[in-house]
This record gives sequence, C-alpha cells and structure tokens, in this order.
Amino acid sequence: MNETLYDVIIVGAGPAGLGAALYTSRDRLKTLMLEKLMPGGQINNTNRIENYPGFDKIDGPGLIERMQKQVDTFGAEVKSASEVTKLEKREDGNIAVSCDSQIYVGRAVILAPGSNYRHLGVPGEDEFRNAGAGVSYCGTCDAPFFREREVVSVGGGNTAIEEALHLAKYASKVTVVHRRDEFRADKILVEELLAKANEPDSNLVIKYDTVATAIEGDGKVQSAKLKNVKTGAEEDYPCDGVFIFVGMEPNTDFLKGFVELTDSGFIKCDCAYLRTNVPGVFVAGDCRIGAAMQLVTAVADGVNAALMLKQYFRDPDWWNSPVDDALQPGGW
Ligand code: NAP
Repeated sequence: MNETLYDVIIVGAGPAGLGAALYTSRDRLKTLMLEKLMPGGQINNTNRIENYPGFDKIDGPGLIERMQKQVDTFGAEVKSASEVTKLEKREDGNIAVSCDSQIYVGRAVILAPGSNYRHLGVPGEDEFRNAGAGVSYCGTCDAPFFREREVVSVGGGNTAIEEALHLAKYASKVTVVHRRDEFRADKILVEELLAKANEPDSNLVIKYDTVATAIEGDGKVQSAKLKNVKTGAEEDYPCDGVFIFVGMEPNTDFLKGFVELTDSGFIKCDCAYLRTNVPGVFVAGDCRIGAAMQLVTAVADGVNAALMLKQYFRDPDWWNSPVDDALQPGGW
C-alpha cells in the first residue's frame, strides 16, 4: 500500500487540534488532521462564547470556521468523516494511524480527540434519546423543538446554565435540577440565571439538592422522577423533554492499549510538555489529565504540543528527559 509520510498527524480537529495545526503548518511541517465528524467538536454545540479573548461574543461554529480557514491558509490538510480506529508505533519510530481502510504515517502525532456528553445512566435515558422523543444533550441544537413546551434541565456547570438560559428562550417552562445547593458554573452565569429566575412570571424554576432518577413516558417523554437528596422526597414531574448537561467524558476508547489512560479514560501526560508514554505522541485538550476544559486552554495545549514536537524532532532522546528549566522559550 502507498503510504504518505507526514511530519505530524493530528487526531481531532477541535480547538486543540486546530491550534496545533496553525503552528505546525506555519512551521512548514507537513500536517494532516483526521476528524471523525466535521471540524469543531463540542464547541460546535455552543451558541454563545464570551470568554475567548478578542471576541465579545461569537458562536462556536462561527469561531471554528475562522480557525479552519486560518489553518487552510497555511496548508494543513484536513480530512473530515475520518475516524481513527488504531495507532501503532513502528520500529523506525514513525507512527501508523489507521482510518477506515487507509493508513497514514506520521513522524509525530498529536492526540486531540476531545470529549463527549456524560450520561446520567437512569432508566428511560436511552429509550427516549433523541429530540423527537424528548431526551437531548444539546440545547443549542434542540431547543427549537421545545417551543412552548416544558423541559427539565439537569446539571449545574457552565454548560448547564448557558443551555438553560438558551432553552428558556423557547420553552414555556425550564426546570433546572441540580444535585447540590450551589452551582459549579462561573458566578457571572449563575447571577444571570438567578436574576432571570427571579423575574416576575419567569419561566425558569430552580430545584436544588435534586436528582433525576428516571425518565418516563409512552413513546415520548411525559415526566421525570425527581428526588430531593436531602429529604428523600420523590415526585413525578410532568415535562415534555429532559436535557442532560452533566459534564463530559474523554473520547479515548480507541486509544486503549496504545497510550496510558487513567481509569476514567483521560490520557496520561507530563502536563508541561504534553508528552504521553509513547515517544512522538503528544496530547492536547480536554482528553488529557489536568485539562482545564476551556476553549482557550484547549487551543493553548495544541500550540504547546506543536512547539514541543520540534524539540522531539531535534532530539528524540529528549522524550525521556525530566520536565525542568533546560527547555526555555525560544529553545525550540
Ligand atoms: P462540569 O463543569 O463538569 O459540570 C457538570 C455538572 O453536572 C456539575 O454541576 C455536576 O454537579 C453535574 N453532574 C455531574 N454528574 C452528575 C450526575 N450523575 N447527576 C447529576 N448531576 C451531575 O461540565 P460542563 O458544564 O459540561 O463543562 C465542562 C467544562 O467546559 C468545564 O470546565 C466548563 O467550565 C467548561 N465550559 C466552559 C464554558 C464557558 O466558559 N463559556 C461553557 C461550557 C463549558 P456537581 O457540581 O455537584 O459536581
């Protein structure tokens, strides 16, 4: 089989992968990005980004479109709908990346596969999983299906609060269900939620210390079983949909046996230079241990990995060097 050799293969074209590609392609390194779906990843589901420096407000797909155009300019090759299923370190030091029936070979690899929706794991969640039936993980995508209908929104992180606020523009009632009495989300978002919930005739209701233990209905969602974790009280809460925003899990199943993962599936690395246990394989973004799970930090990870791989090309033995002050900015 005819195999093209790339300097670097980036697995995943989300913010981390695109950040890496910008730097590797500007360095004239032959760069290939392999993306399971289409560029963007999770950020495509966000309709409101206010914390990406330089942009007052932009939506996820809009920002990704700009990032992709920018890497295109410098010649990085992006292959969408290309799911990586296997990686292998070869004796010559290169890394073979399998994708459908195709094998691509890289002198180095940056793993940036991102993360995906965590599930609640309650009865009814899988049965009603799709917007038509009533269970969704993406308010930005599915809120219009719930115009003038009542929904429950589970979770208290940034995603949950942003999405609950978005859902409230469509649904007649949004009940935010959170398992504690304090939200995890940034204070500025919590303040906005509470202000809206306290408006007269608000369509936002907040239930603290509450979990959803089941989702029920006949063909489509008709109610959620809610339980107060402090009092133990349970209720059948009528609703037309349940939106679940309880965090993310890393997309790393395909990496089992290739790089070291934690029990929860995050890729182990040294966090400073982003080296995994396999020489020549770097990691960037939400899928690694210690990730801040922010758009900005994902992009920054990609950039760091792109800079560090130059040091690896210069001196492959550097892989086993400890993290110290020997590698200074400009040294790469
Ligand atoms: P997250 O910050 O991990 O929040 C997950 C939420 O779900 C928490 O409130 C958690 O409750 C709750 N939860 C987890 N498992 C649960 C379960 N089994 N049952 C009920 N509730 C459960 O996840 P995220 O909101 O998806 O955000 C992921 C990362 O992206 C975060 O770092 C976040 O800051 C970032 N993000 C940033 C922005 C932004 O800056 N604009 C937007 C979206 C996301 P506890 O609080 O009790 O643990």
